[in-house]
Amino acid sequence: MEDEAFDVVVVGAGIAGCVAAYRLAEAGHSVVLIERGSAAGAKNLSGGVFYCRVMEQVFPGFVRRAPVERVITRNCISMTNATSAVTVDYRDERLAEPVNAVTVLRARLDSWLAEQCEEAGVMVMPGVRVDELLLEGGQVVGVRAGDDELRARVVIAADGVNSFLARQAGIRPTEPLENLAVGVKSVIRLPREVIEERFSLTGDEGVAYAMVGDCTQGIAGGAFLYTNTASLSLGVVLRLDDLVASGRSSSEVHDHLLAHPSVAPLIEGGELLEYGCHLTIEGGPQMARRDLTRPGLMVVGDAAGLTLNTGLTIRGMDLAAGSAIAAATAADRALRSGDLSQRAMDVYRTELDGSFVGADLATYARAPHFLESALLYRDAGPLAADVLHGVFDHDLTPRRHLVGTARSAVKSSPVSAAQLARLGLSALRSL
Ligand SMILES: Cc1cc2nc3c(=O)[nH]c(=O)nc-3n(C[C@H](O)[C@H](O)[C@H](O)COP(=O)(O)OP(=O)(O)OC[C@H]3O[C@@H](n4cnc5c(N)ncnc54)[C@H](O)[C@@H]3O)c2cc1C
Repeated sequence: MEDEAFDVVVVGAGIAGCVAAYRLAEAGHSVVLIERGSAAGAKNLSGGVFYCRVMEQVFPGFVRRAPVERVITRNCISMTNATSAVTVDYRDERLAEPVNAVTVLRARLDSWLAEQCEEAGVMVMPGVRVDELLLEGGQVVGVRAGDDELRARVVIAADGVNSFLARQAGIRPTEPLENLAVGVKSVIRLPREVIEERFSLTGDEGVAYAMVGDCTQGIAGGAFLYTNTASLSLGVVLRLDDLVASGRSSSEVHDHLLAHPSVAPLIEGGELLEYGCHLTIEGGPQMARRDLTRPGLMVVGDAAGLTLNTGLTIRGMDLAAGSAIAAATAADRALRSGDLSQRAMDVYRTELDGSFVGADLATYARAPHFLESALLYRDAGPLAADVLHGVFDHDLTPRRHLVGTARSAVKSSPVSAAQLARLGLSALRSL
């Protein structure tokens, strides 16, 4: 890299970085997008359900033009036990009209996004790792990568969950274990027809499973299984503190998922295409309350801790895109006015808080606390299965109404009715 000056340096060509760079180049600014991977998407991993309506604001016709896999029209929420599973299976054509969520494979999607950036005039620099921010009198004036310095009027840090830049700026401390989860994911190839028959799908319809309980060996977090065109993405997301306390390794829990009776028949005959591991943020809503700017600097996407896990949905990609739009709006205004001060950067916070990102983070502020309940992962599943077993197992003893069946299931469970009521109430308030 030469000593060259740009209007904007964006660090990280994930969803957040690509969206911010594209928006700013479209607005007429000179933008460089730096990515440490050999290509955009080479190092990125996501479960893969993208709540993608936000992308239509940036790339009209996104679902048609971008390399997306399937349109999610069916969502299954499953409480898994060693030999049983209780599943809510929600299928709705309205989820496809307009399209709400799609499955994506990041290697394909991110390289498409980087191509759009290049076409809009962004200088994309893969294979370069940024080491630090350049500071002059408290103002961020660029970045350093190895021996090279790249100067810019605004720096956007989109460098993901481990953001060194946010840490250097004093925006994020070293993350405590309870704020982090580790994701282990496999992509398994299966013929398109087998997927459509096995999951009863037609055309480009897709299904997303969210699972808790025995599938993660009772460790806080959950498992997912998403259908792609001719492959399945599946894996576990495990809260780090609970994983450490369990004494298990994340790969062992992942292998347990693949062999689980609820999952094994769905992947039978498949061929492993990819296997990866990545950190993710838990407790996003609390973390996002932090300041996200310094003079000349804005932090977006995972780098800012913007993820939302409610147990029903895992979201990070749409929040990354939403935060990038907010940051690009603020950066555009700052560049046009020539004011790159803290006050000008804070327009990003106002834009973010006024967007769906800020609103949803506020709405689900209690979700991380709700997901801390061990009841969810260890006791709720067996209890739900016991109630249904009492309903469906006609063992020739006299039948009882549902209340009686439920009462005796609760009696033989380690969970009290009061604990259950509290969990239900907490779910209603948090989700
Ligand atoms: C297992 C798992 C499952 C998930 N499932 C879902 C899901 O189904 N749906 C969903 O919406 N979200 C999901 N998420 C969250 C989602 O993946 C993230 O929120 C999203 O990828 C964040 O995008 P981003 O652009 O902020 O960061 P990233 O996608 O992480 O991009 C950061 C980029 O910065 C680059 N970079 C880092 N440091 C440097 C540096 N120093 N110099 C140059 N480049 C650098 C990286 O190589 C990377 O390309 C999941 C996450 C995990 C781990």
